[in-house]
Amino acid sequence: MSLGVSDSDRVRRFVLEKHPIRGHAVRLARSWLELREHQDYPPAVQKLVGEAVGAVVLLAATLKFDGTLTLQLQGKGLVNLLVAQCTHDFKVRAMARHEAITPTDAEGEPGFRALAGEGQIVVTVEATDRASSYQGVVPITGHSLAECLEAYFVQSEQLPTRVVLAATSGLVSGMLVQRMPGEGGKQDVDPAELESAWMKADHAMAGLHAIELLDDDIEQRLVRMFGADEVRVFGGKETKYECRCTRDRVANVLRSLGVEEVRSVIAEQGAVTVTCEFCQKPYRFDPIDTEQLFTGSPLGSSSIN
Ligand SMILES: [Zn+2]
Repeated sequence: MSLGVSDSDRVRRFVLEKHPIRGHAVRLARSWLELREHQDYPPAVQKLVGEAVGAVVLLAATLKFDGTLTLQLQGKGLVNLLVAQCTHDFKVRAMARHEAITPTDAEGEPGFRALAGEGQIVVTVEATDRASSYQGVVPITGHSLAECLEAYFVQSEQLPTRVVLAATSGLVSGMLVQRMPGEGGKQDVDPAELESAWMKADHAMAGLHAIELLDDDIEQRLVRMFGADEVRVFGGKETKYECRCTRDRVANVLRSLGVEEVRSVIAEQGAVTVTCEFCQKPYRFDPIDTEQLFTGSPLGSSSIN
């Protein structure tokens, strides 16, 4: 039964009616294209960035917070740094820095291990309510970002979790299924029945090829995986691309560099231009702007954002 809701740019929650098993599914189309508008990544990096964006939306969907969730991939592979962010109201942005990637005919595109390398994944929640701020770290393991995320959930929340992530140039898609603790959930849970339901969900996720996730309707897919009577799918929340960079934030970065440093750039180049690494928007500070930075005068109406 369809709610008549388009699944594009939306994260939807679902629950299994008879068991404490829940999940979230996301599909990003327009927001994924907008996010990449000024970024030009090799296909393998683009795919990993897309999976990371799907991952932060799924992570944010499982948590209650008011602020920003950040996933940072810090490895020694071809990707030096990957940052993906999602706010509590599902505004996403992401960027990656990488080595030159020249796919050879023999090996094709580099896989997850070559891209990520040895290292760690850091998940940070910066909440307006500082008590709910949080940081979790897991080593880069397995053969996909999805596997790392599964390890993260086991480590940070002791929740058995299955994750599937997929990304193409036009679409990001992801699904997460979690087995919730018995208590506080459904009261009359038969452990053997729950175990069997979880095995079934686990099996359905294992059989879910990433590529299928891309060309499918979320609700139809869930019904096929769990049965129409078993799964309840909620309308969900819209996801959007939005970069949070502002001229004020850039000004703060310049202030933190110090007056000497900034003046030396002005002397050399006539102006300081800082480009946002997420959206590539340039912020230019001329000599008058930069002097105002350090004299405390308010910045003029030249604010770009
Ligand atoms: Zn930006």
